[in-house]
Amino acid sequence: MLAASLDLEGARGIILEGSSHVGSKLLMSGGGRCNITHGGSIKDFLSAYGDKGPSFRKALYRHSNDELKNWLEEHDVLLTEEKGRIFPASMRAKDVLDVFTKEATRNGWHIRTDTKVAGLRKKENRDESKGDRTDNRTDNRGDNRKNDTWDIELKDGEIIKAKNVVIATGGITYPETGSDGSMFEILKGLGIGVTELRPALAPVYVEDYPYGELSGVSLNDVTVSVMGSASATGSHKGKGKPAHMTGDILFTHDGFSGPAILNISGYAEPGKKIRLSYNKELSELPKRMQRVLQDRARGESGDIKTTVLASLLDHDDFIVKAIDDRGMVTAGGIELDEVDSRSMRIKSLDGLYAIGEALDVNGITGGYNLQMCWSTASAAADDLREQLK
Ligand SMILES: Cc1cc2nc3c(=O)[nH]c(=O)nc-3n(C[C@H](O)[C@H](O)[C@H](O)COP(=O)(O)OP(=O)(O)OC[C@H]3O[C@@H](n4cnc5c(N)ncnc54)[C@H](O)[C@@H]3O)c2cc1C
Repeated sequence: MLAASLDLEGARGIILEGSSHVGSKLLMSGGGRCNITHGGSIKDFLSAYGDKGPSFRKALYRHSNDELKNWLEEHDVLLTEEKGRIFPASMRAKDVLDVFTKEATRNGWHIRTDTKVAGLRKKENRDESKGDRTDNRTDNRGDNRKNDTWDIELKDGEIIKAKNVVIATGGITYPETGSDGSMFEILKGLGIGVTELRPALAPVYVEDYPYGELSGVSLNDVTVSVMGSASATGSHKGKGKPAHMTGDILFTHDGFSGPAILNISGYAEPGKKIRLSYNKELSELPKRMQRVLQDRARGESGDIKTTVLASLLDHDDFIVKAIDDRGMVTAGGIELDEVDSRSMRIKSLDGLYAIGEALDVNGITGGYNLQMCWSTASAAADDLREQLK
């Protein structure tokens, strides 16, 4: 998005992509359909990021869902809405990726794939009065490198010099897409704070899971609570209060999934209690589930204990065994205090920016995570555009 919306006007810009293709995660988003954003007012987005929302409000408000929708439609990507979720009308994530790569190329960006960044070094500011020839040299492509302040070291040892570097390296989940978290160690080496990284928006596995035979069955309006968490989608470090989320759940052969589970998974650490309240009478549940619940409520004599059955409907409690490491997003990332939320500059290091999932922000499902990427990318593009003037 940054490259697609920033015309370099003759300056040089390179996208360094470690894997063989750009946008692999975008292609798998929304099950290949790419839920690019959510409908409604951008003001309603803030709560989707828990207590992190206000930290990048400026970027979000300046580059809203409406701006994104207009930009895409102006570039011939027609959109459609499904229960508030916005998708390309073609339902093909590839159409979204294609428009970004096409516009980036048109804006003068060069895309280099199989180009993994292995190091990042800031050059000291040099005193021109002492005639530093390296800093003032003109290279054989005629570029004046006087302002280059960063050395980007590639895996094969090549060094690329740059005035500005934008970190857009994503999180740690689905590492086969190229987002393997390798950049976080490099950033820590520069003194940049990175919070604890773990999968979020992931299925949850529990001890003594009884619903394997219901695999594929979903239920609506289930309240899921994780005990000993802060508020849902907020800080992951809360101690006392439970986190709650009401919505659809999906039984899989070995654990719980579906939007309400995915959205609360960031709180469900192993050993914590997770509670499902079905908000329904027994007769309103699928027949197969009724049977499983009745079996679980049987006493030693084989009779169904109605009080046990009622309590299972009201609070079906489990101990979390594990969170699937294939989370749709990463909880944690570059500390938001490090970043100016208007420009996405890293405050302590001139010429360094951070955008997208690499930041310590994660939202619930529904297009909020990609909107955060678009908004922060557009904010950084604005700042860089000013520099090009
Ligand atoms: C299965 C799935 C479905 C999803 N569906 C949705 C959805 O429908 N809606 C939604 O809003 N969000 C969705 N998400 C989340 C969304 O796709 C991500 O939040 C988003 O792609 C993050 O974008 P990004 O550009 O910040 O990072 P990424 O898309 O992860 O891109 C980072 C890029 O940086 C490259 N890279 C990493 N390290 C290096 C390095 N050292 N050197 C060079 N290159 C490097 C990687 O190869 C990668 O191409 C989904 C995620 C998954 C996994």
